Amino acid sequence: MALTGLEIYKLLPKKNCGKCGPPTCLAFAMQLAANKGSLDQCPDVTEEAKAALGAASAPPIRKVAIGEGDRQLVVGDETVLFRHDKTFFHETGIAIQVPDTASVDEIRSRVEALNKLEFERVGMMLRPNLVAVNNLSRDPEKFAAAVKVAAETSKMPLMIMTTDVAAMDKAVAAAAARKPLMCGANAENLDGMVEIAKKHGLPMVLSAKGLDDLAALSDKVTAAGHKEIILDPGCREVGGCLEDLTNMRRMAIRKKFRPLGFPTVAFIEEDDPVQAAADASVYIAKYASIIVFKSIETWQLLPLITLRQNIYTDPQKPIQVEAKVYEIGEVKPNSPVFITTNFSLTYFTVVGDIEVSKTPAYLLVVETDGTSVLTAWAAGKFTADKIAEHMQKFDVAGKVNHKKIILPGYVAVLSGKLSDLSGWEILVGPRESAGIPSFLKARWTA
Ligand code: SF4
Repeated sequence: MALTGLEIYKLLPKKNCGKCGPPTCLAFAMQLAANKGSLDQCPDVTEEAKAALGAASAPPIRKVAIGEGDRQLVVGDETVLFRHDKTFFHETGIAIQVPDTASVDEIRSRVEALNKLEFERVGMMLRPNLVAVNNLSRDPEKFAAAVKVAAETSKMPLMIMTTDVAAMDKAVAAAAARKPLMCGANAENLDGMVEIAKKHGLPMVLSAKGLDDLAALSDKVTAAGHKEIILDPGCREVGGCLEDLTNMRRMAIRKKFRPLGFPTVAFIEEDDPVQAAADASVYIAKYASIIVFKSIETWQLLPLITLRQNIYTDPQKPIQVEAKVYEIGEVKPNSPVFITTNFSLTYFTVVGDIEVSKTPAYLLVVETDGTSVLTAWAAGKFTADKIAEHMQKFDVAGKVNHKKIILPGYVAVLSGKLSDLSGWEILVGPRESAGIPSFLKARWTA
């Protein structure tokens, strides 16, 4: 959480000697608050002040990384309670359980199926994030073997789930290089689990029922010198868990209560598949950093992954595509030319509907700061002048042997001026892009 200049000033020596650069301690404090300097510039700052400033400037929810390489999952480092206050930074990781009671072949084929679970939406590849091997067998050898198979079969980060210290030790040894997440530490097994986590430098989940006990547990682990912690409030039903996750987030952000200032995990134990997906959606919205899910059914995961993408998109930066002329299919000089804005959702919807029409077409995308057609028009970002300018800039005339361009139906009002400016015939297209196939059938002749 950023400190104000005055808060920083209170911790400085107040000698006003100017050795740091600015003439006074207050001026230096203001520079630090604006991230324009470093505390090291003051030679007289005390170790206590350094520690206090360092701790106070740490994020209210610690950032924790799981796994390595390009599939590494980073969670935490959130600074707000509500997405519209700023943004949420690290999206909820989705862990899929793999029970170690299955045969080696079954484990391998489940993990292979997991590897293939990916969906493209608005130009982004969306996937689950973790393979969570669960020690249901209670057999350390079998568990370690299952973890080894999962590690060999997938590049996804691993979550190793057991409350048995001996089983954890064996399983971690089989995959320590992959920097897995240890899951299963509680008040009873804490010392053994912390020892393994510290030895291998691994993040670990701490579980306790009730936030007081959970805070006491996290205090104990941080005092032991380990801070790569994820917190499990221990509840397994949606109402209580939502309450705990919300209170933890409030305590961490509003009260700066450090013992609860760590990422969180929620387990979906519900057997009814529809209710399980509904529970998971609640935790993605508020405030699980990781959810542990049992199913790999696409119909359950796709809505969850889509919801997650929507929540974790920066509300101040809409997802955009580059403004230019796109070729949809094998275009020819007599192909139709459509116009739309550079909001990703709009672009991919229009592209999908052009593809459905099976008529190859050009699509001129106009720069509108990532806003949709009507929003851009209302904000004066999607005007006849701007469209005409883009037609020239991207040489639309050089690509086709006709002079007809299709305007979204919602902005039909622009057609007169656009025709005057461009000299092209303006066809008013459908209001919704779903109408493109029937529009082309009825109206398009090159
Ligand atoms: Fe104050 Fe330190 Fe800067 Fe001197 S060097 S003005 S004591 S902040």
